[in-house]
Amino acid sequence: MIPIAQPFLGFEEADAARAVVLSGWLSQGSEVASFETEFAADVCARHACAVSNCTTALHLALLAVGVRQGSEVVTVSHSFIAGANSIRHVGAIPVFVDIEEGGFNIDPSRIADAITPRTQAILCVHQMGMPCDLQSVSAIAKQYSLPLIEDAACAIGSQIRIDDTWRKIGKPHGDIVCFSFHPRKVLTTGEGGMLTTDNDDHDRFFRLARQHGMSISDGVRHASPRVIFEEYLTTGYNYRMTDIQAAIGRQQLKRLPEIVARRRSLAMRYRVLLTAVSGVRAPSEPGWTKSNWQSFAISLDIGLDQKRVMQHMLDNGVATRRGIMCAHREAAYTADPRPHALGRSEAAQDRSILLPLFPQMTDEAQQQVVDALRAAIKACSKTPAMRLVKA
Ligand SMILES: *Cc1c(COP(=O)(O)O)cnc(C)c1O
Repeated sequence: MIPIAQPFLGFEEADAARAVVLSGWLSQGSEVASFETEFAADVCARHACAVSNCTTALHLALLAVGVRQGSEVVTVSHSFIAGANSIRHVGAIPVFVDIEEGGFNIDPSRIADAITPRTQAILCVHQMGMPCDLQSVSAIAKQYSLPLIEDAACAIGSQIRIDDTWRKIGKPHGDIVCFSFHPRKVLTTGEGGMLTTDNDDHDRFFRLARQHGMSISDGVRHASPRVIFEEYLTTGYNYRMTDIQAAIGRQQLKRLPEIVARRRSLAMRYRVLLTAVSGVRAPSEPGWTKSNWQSFAISLDIGLDQKRVMQHMLDNGVATRRGIMCAHREAAYTADPRPHALGRSEAAQDRSILLPLFPQMTDEAQQQVVDALRAAIKACSKTPAMRLVKA
């Protein structure tokens, strides 16, 4: 069986975690601090603050820019539901807009229509690692004086060209960027997240809010020769990252160039191999982006049944996943008003399939995936239902 994904970890990560276990300091200590410094340097952000996952990162980001009860946040429905949920977590309302033609990211031309006097922020997503059109999105945010938060859960190691310069996702083009280190992402710490920002006040807020609003950290009290008492300055949360996770993350960060290079070369090869398969369209990469290809989503031609193609491939030893979900179709969101058209989002969910892609994947395994896809499409095209559609 070829899995959809596989984390890329080795003895270096295991040894780093072991060293922390034996060190006597397990949470939000020096490993977390070093991971933050190295991460900020890697993406060229002034600050990086580690948290427990990307959903908690999004929660703190929304609070930091002033999103509150009754606010609206313009975002996409076509994304993992954590984005919409994080907006609900602060009592605000996600206002969904559609994605672009031929891609899976927010359509910048739909944003202005969705802005109202209640709008407090724009939350854009670099879906499956592919950078969204940040230049257009941030221009709109500036025009309407709205904070911009980037959901870069999947986008560590991706790049975008702005003003003829290649920049890593994580250097904020709005206010705050949020990352995930879940095992399905390109860099993993088991669970984990990171907030990057150039804003000193935001970073101060993140550090306070992630550990119960505590004025003086355990680390500082531990190192102090004098007795000091902490204060609790705001209603905080427990969104801490452990040093075990951070130690793994530091090793992963060292591997990141190798991981991204391998993913990119597999993605390029998929695109070549798929030119010989009819009935599908490979994802495209705009010239101003370099995706980390966290996921590789192909689009099926109309008439091909997504679930049947996937089942046929599974029966032939290849695991796939359906395209990215749409939050507005889930029970948690169906009661919300839906003022903006989301047809492309729905089509993307219904017609795309994620193919296996991970650094350890061999060229043979990749060929096997493409062969299984070709066979599945052939089998699913021959059904009576399909002939009916064609007729
Ligand atoms: C995975 C993901 C998240 C959630 O990340 P967690 O670390 O699991 O909380 C949020 N947004 C997007 C786009 C994701 O892919």
